Amino acid sequence: EVEQLKQLKGLPAETVDGVQIRLMANSGLVNDIKPSVDSGAEGIGLYRTEIPFMTCQAFPTEDEQVQIYSQIFSAFPDNPIYMRVLDIGGDKQLPYFPIQDEMNPALGWRGIRFGLDNAHLLLTQIRSMLLSAGMSGELNILIPMVSAKEQIQAFKLLVGNALEQLEEEGISVKPPKIGCMIEVPAAISQIPFWAEELDFVSIGSNDLSQYLLSVDRNNARVASLYDPLHPAVVHEVNRAVTNAKAAGLPISLCGELASEPLAVVLLIGMGLSSLSLGAAYLPKIKKLIRMIDSKDAHAVLQQALTLHTTQEIRDCVKGYMETIG
Ligand code: PEP
Ligand code: MG
Repeated sequence: EVEQLKQLKGLPAETVDGVQIRLMANSGLVNDIKPSVDSGAEGIGLYRTEIPFMTCQAFPTEDEQVQIYSQIFSAFPDNPIYMRVLDIGGDKQLPYFPIQDEMNPALGWRGIRFGLDNAHLLLTQIRSMLLSAGMSGELNILIPMVSAKEQIQAFKLLVGNALEQLEEEGISVKPPKIGCMIEVPAAISQIPFWAEELDFVSIGSNDLSQYLLSVDRNNARVASLYDPLHPAVVHEVNRAVTNAKAAGLPISLCGELASEPLAVVLLIGMGLSSLSLGAAYLPKIKKLIRMIDSKDAHAVLQQALTLHTTQEIRDCVKGYMETIG
């Protein structure tokens, strides 16, 4: 089977009826880079910068960040890299900057909320990303935990500042593409209105499920309620894809849902053509995609959208999976 999965590396992630799906890898650790390349990933669809930040002893300097980010661009010279700016707070803490005394950390000072209140950190980070990408890297910057259009606008001003600074310093870089995570439920209905500010969006199904279902994604006591195939999650992910497509905004998904075979059938049925997942799962998901007909997947999705429980949705998709082997 290992051999079979290796052979897959050179094959496209294409459905039976010829729909191309871009499969990219999620990354954060330097150790992820080689497995990502080896998996046949067409780029990094989510680089979680908080992970290298967590392993440092203090906020990394610009030079240190450039040193780290450059490795990603060298590993994928011809593919897009989606770098997310610092997403700390909630369950992600920096040892040298603990955020304490919050009644509801998941609803608190995290992601872009923290970032905009510490704009100097974001500015250094954006500069480091631009410097690492240089003139050739395909840099896409992702904003985490966006709940309001003003956050996108404020972030873009910082990107503008970074570009101006570098120009004044005589350093040529390419303007990046800018997009936001769709992981706060409020974002879904706003996609049409945010579209004019954005180049793309990416669904973060982990937090989106947590917030839609009001279930802490890391609390074992309520873990059985945390199910990203809950009908409400399926409906809302579908609505996000529909809204983005109507607005002409490229959309992808980079949460754990992209590594769950049953979910992938539904995501293909929604018309998603870009997914980012852990490299370890990528060959298996590619193999599955090569067995799916997108029209059938669409029909399965339509059926799933009429169902009322997670179990019914799982059974519905399983029924289809059995027909394709
Ligand atoms: C998500 O929330 O789905 C996501 C991809 O981001 P993270 O898991 O890093 O919160
Ligand atoms: Mg998230």
